[in-house]
Amino acid sequence: MYKPKILVVEDDPAITNLIRTTLETQDYQYHTAKNGSAALMDAVSYNADVIILDLGLPDMDGVDIIRKVRGWSNVPIIVVSARSEDRDKVEALDAGADDYLTKPFSIDELLARLRVALRRSRTEETDMHSSGSTYTNGALSIDYAAGCAYLDGAEVHLTPIEYKLLCVLARNTGKVLTHNYILKEVWGSALASDTPSLRVFMATLRKKIEKDPSNPQYIQTHIGVGYRMIRK
Ligand code: CA
Repeated sequence: MYKPKILVVEDDPAITNLIRTTLETQDYQYHTAKNGSAALMDAVSYNADVIILDLGLPDMDGVDIIRKVRGWSNVPIIVVSARSEDRDKVEALDAGADDYLTKPFSIDELLARLRVALRRSRTEETDMHSSGSTYTNGALSIDYAAGCAYLDGAEVHLTPIEYKLLCVLARNTGKVLTHNYILKEVWGSALASDTPSLRVFMATLRKKIEKDPSNPQYIQTHIGVGYRMIRK
């Protein structure tokens, strides 16, 4: 059986050990890098399925590493940040990271994020081999050619903005999207002042696709960060 390969970029030995022990119990393969320049070399040579990246590295800003890696690879990146690096976390997601863990994090949390990231890298591979004109996630589906969304086979009547919003989230299923990213994708610009209107459109979209909008099954809120479409 194939053992997923995880590249761990972290300069704190205690956290590296915690991650290493966790990965060993799950039979993942891993490789560790202690600084940014080693990480960039390993990102090229190790061919990881997922990268776990600490943002505060001795020689380089983690966000720069994400930008460089994104220049040639779509490998899922989970950033690890201290609470004081909250703004960096949002910047990292904007630069193309998939998800984040805030220190201190639990082993269960780490494993759950890893499973999501691995599923995303596998789904992306499958998607490349399918026609890509429809999207299915649980009871929710989108027919991109027709520009329609369906829930349990029944058409959901969405406004153009709601439809665009749904498509952006669907295209990035499993990935945390920042407010900035969504605003840019849907409205073409990202002004912080637009975040409240994003919230309004998200609420109306949820009313249409969630059975219980106060307990959403599809679109998860990340307070102060953004939203994520959950893979059902
Ligand atoms: Ca660090």
